Amino acid sequence: MKKYIYLFEEGQATQKKLLGGKGASLAEMTQLDLPVPPGMTITTEACDLYYDSNQKLPEFLLPRIKEYLSKIEKKTEKKFGDNNNPLLLSVRSGSATSMPGMMDTILNLGLNDQSVKGLAKITNDKRFAYDCYRRFIQMFANIVLKIDSSKFTQALNKLKQESDREKDLNLTTSDLKELINRYKNIIKAETNSQFPQNPLEQLITAIEAIFGSWNNQRAIAYREANNLDHDLGTAVNVQAMVFGNKNQNSGTGVLFTRNPSTGEKELYGEYLLNAQGEDVVGGIRTPKSIDNLQKQFPEVFEQLKEVTELLENNYQDLQDIEFTIEDGQLYLLQTRTGKRTAEAAIKIAVDMVEEDIIDKEEALLRVKPNQIEKILHKRIDPKAETEIITQGLAASPGAATGQIVFSVEEAKKLSQQGEKVILVSVNTTPEDIEGVMAAQGVLTTRGGMTSHAAVVARGMGKACVCGCKDIKIDFEKQELLVNDRQLKEGDYITIDGGTGKVILGEVDKVDPKLSSEAEQLLDWADEFKSLDVYVNADNERDIKQALQFGAQGIGLCRTEHMFRTEDRLAIIRDLIVSESKEEEEKKLDKLESIQRQDFAAIFSQLEHEVVTVRLLDPPLHEFLPDLSELKGEVAKLEYQGLIKKAEKKRKLLNKVEAMQESNAMLGFRGARLGIIKPKIYEMQVRAMFKAVIDVAEEGIKVTPKIMLPLINHVNEIKILRNKLETVADQLLADSNFDLNYKLGTMMELPRACLTADEIAKEAEFFSFGTNDLTQTTFGISRDDAESKFLSYYLKEGILSDNPFISLDQAGVGRLIEIATNLGRKTNPGLNIGICGEHGGEAKSIALSQQYNLDYVSCSPYRVPVARLAAAQAKLRQAKTDQEYKRITNLAN
Ligand code: PEP
Ligand code: MG
Repeated sequence: MKKYIYLFEEGQATQKKLLGGKGASLAEMTQLDLPVPPGMTITTEACDLYYDSNQKLPEFLLPRIKEYLSKIEKKTEKKFGDNNNPLLLSVRSGSATSMPGMMDTILNLGLNDQSVKGLAKITNDKRFAYDCYRRFIQMFANIVLKIDSSKFTQALNKLKQESDREKDLNLTTSDLKELINRYKNIIKAETNSQFPQNPLEQLITAIEAIFGSWNNQRAIAYREANNLDHDLGTAVNVQAMVFGNKNQNSGTGVLFTRNPSTGEKELYGEYLLNAQGEDVVGGIRTPKSIDNLQKQFPEVFEQLKEVTELLENNYQDLQDIEFTIEDGQLYLLQTRTGKRTAEAAIKIAVDMVEEDIIDKEEALLRVKPNQIEKILHKRIDPKAETEIITQGLAASPGAATGQIVFSVEEAKKLSQQGEKVILVSVNTTPEDIEGVMAAQGVLTTRGGMTSHAAVVARGMGKACVCGCKDIKIDFEKQELLVNDRQLKEGDYITIDGGTGKVILGEVDKVDPKLSSEAEQLLDWADEFKSLDVYVNADNERDIKQALQFGAQGIGLCRTEHMFRTEDRLAIIRDLIVSESKEEEEKKLDKLESIQRQDFAAIFSQLEHEVVTVRLLDPPLHEFLPDLSELKGEVAKLEYQGLIKKAEKKRKLLNKVEAMQESNAMLGFRGARLGIIKPKIYEMQVRAMFKAVIDVAEEGIKVTPKIMLPLINHVNEIKILRNKLETVADQLLADSNFDLNYKLGTMMELPRACLTADEIAKEAEFFSFGTNDLTQTTFGISRDDAESKFLSYYLKEGILSDNPFISLDQAGVGRLIEIATNLGRKTNPGLNIGICGEHGGEAKSIALSQQYNLDYVSCSPYRVPVARLAAAQAKLRQAKTDQEYKRITNLAN
């Protein structure tokens, strides 16, 4: 016969699924000989039976419950239902995963009109006995009889008013007796029957109600919000009552073994004297800090200290403990893994290694990658009051406040005057980069997680909220409209790129920091990981930051970013519209000298050798002005009769018109541009190698990697390689400089992946550009999909994850796997990695480990996350499922 009921001394800590978290912890504490009031756990399998039997407790369980009750009676030397010395019970829910406050609890069960007298006599405290009774009736009526609890609160308040009592504690015994009568009348009026006097009937219906509370609305909503399984069910714990509300020598409280906010090793918690559990959590009375307990009950405090240490060592993690003191005697009612902030999670994991409680591997597996991410950015002070005006995509974490500006010029102007601004626009274009740099954060009404604004903002560690569909910008009036609210340029807003919230006005923030514990944890991560972690960066500031965060080199330097300041844009525009070879040469020379300086500045930052420079990728018309704006300007000049000026502008207009493409992302860009306009790539290679030689004179040695974008066919790489190697080799020979450089390719197109064996013969490395590879594999636009249909797909479960955030294993991942295997077949020494945004995302990093890649490359602020995730991915491979589950289940 299956066992559906366990005494606490019969259960195991490992039986969380069967006994629920609370039941398993009560069993464990009992077996550790800690002061736990005796009791039993009715299992989650009994909960299944309850639902299979029309929401009734099956008959055959009744004799068992009675049998176990008699064992509890023996231990407590009290009798359930006895009029003179009644055993009173608490009946509490407890599922495998804790769902704080979501299900129900009934205390003081077993009291009736007779036994309340017995309780009064035996405790010599009438007031206490009647207070227990009225609390029980109130809980029972609400949870079992489903009567709205406000009816009882109203009755209580009314009586307090009538008898002129300020607090519950001032109610006298006769007040309480009167209250009990009124409560009973409410029950009679609401259910047309009397409050049940039979303790066994009370118990059975209470157990049924607790099982039933698994499916109350708030429990269902909580499971949905936290992705918990609806089929698990709850256990029910029936336990002898201890009374924190007995007298001033009694109380109840909650205690954390360490500070869950900072991780500091100190007892942290609060308690109330003369109170029962719901008084602490209900917020009716303000509890005292646990430090006071040391003064009030030094012995109990010492005992608590010992117990908490024992429990923490036993569970090897932060514990959140419920306790009650009855007549100066300590009892433990629950222990569970404590919830904690990101800072605390890191500190606790590292401290516990240093205290020899866990090992480094376990510490690494306990901290979630997003907890590392959370501590790296300015965040909204959790205590701040906020007025949220709308919500967009959480595109780049961090919180930023500033005045609304709608143009790059205004952003630059105000920031030069020392003002803080938030750049608000439809979507950012390459020309906006200076505005992004000047702003505290970026808010766009269109665009997704890998849109330009998001990539650039993440690269700079700036807050960014993208795709705020509710916001309508009126550039003419310099204002925005959002849900009937009008905000003007200069009004303050705060954006939270970690949640996507847009908040009215200024909000207090807390500073980011990589604590010494976080640094320690990441050093351990480096000991275990096998993937190298590089950075996507193209300026000194980002590189400095990334190196501080532990990047091992540059995995992607997007050279087009270097052209995006105003002075450089002017040169590249002149280059594009130049009409003679000489003019073109002149502009190329200018650009070469600028790029050479930029490269030298970047290379001189490096303590590491790898620097992967990607040649120009975007279509050239991205560097040209907007077509419709240009048309307007030409028309205006003509209207003003400024014919010469108009003619010059028209030339530019004609060029822009000629270069328009209806599908630019699949257009004249990447390697195609390099083949048709080889001079630009040749110029970039010359600038790059000259810079290598420049920094070598300062004693800095770098190994440059030339990376070709958007290769589709092996012949493309053959042609470009020939050309560029000739340029590079010539330059090195002329300078008498010996350099072992490498040439490889981005892998961003399905065709390239499927013919990787051919391409690998011509390449020394592959770098999967997973932003474009996702775009081209799915055939969906990385700039538009999220705001158009992707959010619907995600909500409806058509796609389980956003493929632009987390690598799509079945499609894009499969292509990476195929390309890696094909590539290594023809070129075993091929160095392979990922440099799309996925390179900084934990699940994608785990897949990169699975595919045996050599490295991941990501934006600077994701480098620490990538280091931890890479270590976790490697450790995961070495652990059995069971061991891995044990460690991560214990973790918060
Ligand atoms: C990519 O496509 O993944 C990539 C890294 O290149 P970009 O984002 O610059 O297109
Ligand atoms: Mg790309």
